[in-house]
Amino acid sequence: MIILTVEQTKQWMKEIQKRMEENKEQLTALDQAIGDGDHGINMARGFNEVVNKIDDTDYDSVADVLKSAAMTLTAKVGGASGPLYGTAFLKMSMAMQDKEVNQQNFKAAIDAALAGIKMRGHAEFGEKTMYDVWYQVAEFLASENVEDWEEMIEACQATIEDTREMVATKGRASYLKERTLGHVDPGSMSSFYIFEALVAVIEVGD
Ligand code: ADP
Ligand code: MG
Repeated sequence: MIILTVEQTKQWMKEIQKRMEENKEQLTALDQAIGDGDHGINMARGFNEVVNKIDDTDYDSVADVLKSAAMTLTAKVGGASGPLYGTAFLKMSMAMQDKEVNQQNFKAAIDAALAGIKMRGHAEFGEKTMYDVWYQVAEFLASENVEDWEEMIEACQATIEDTREMVATKGRASYLKERTLGHVDPGSMSSFYIFEALVAVIEVGD
């Protein structure tokens, strides 16, 4: 069964944009606590640019929509998160090339994105970064044939809470070491919105 069409993928980007805009202040506050306070602005601006770009363009495939998003994020978002999300969406796009997006292909695309974030950020699981949430999503997809996508959201939510108890060892937050304890990682939070947006548009079927 196809779970993501071109139209749904465009909608996915719009749902992400909406959440980044609505939660801009929250993402900024999280980044103020353990970074430089630009994550809300980075995400809102980045996904505004993505939506502007894809709204005016016709696409033949899901892969093409994601490639366009990836290039926009890499080009328009400063900081660590732009190139990292750019890489994640580009790897997803490459994995989906010439394919219909069923659950199996989607899972492979998430695995590719995860590998991309790891390669680009040298991140490991448990280092208090966005990688933790993508890892959790990959784990979730590996474990079963998904019937209830809400469970994926719950898994992400648990991971966000877990980042609170972690000491950052990657990115800007790593300078603060133990002082990052007690704070949620901003990139994990924005990744949560990306997957929450996905669940809002993905085809639920039997
Ligand atoms: P910057 O840190 O350059 O200000 P942002 O504030 O936009 O960029 O993004 C910060 C987020 O990026 C962090 O919360 C973390 O989730 C993620 N991040 C930073 N460095 C890495 C890395 N090396 N690997 C994976 N994720 C990272
Ligand atoms: Mg920042």
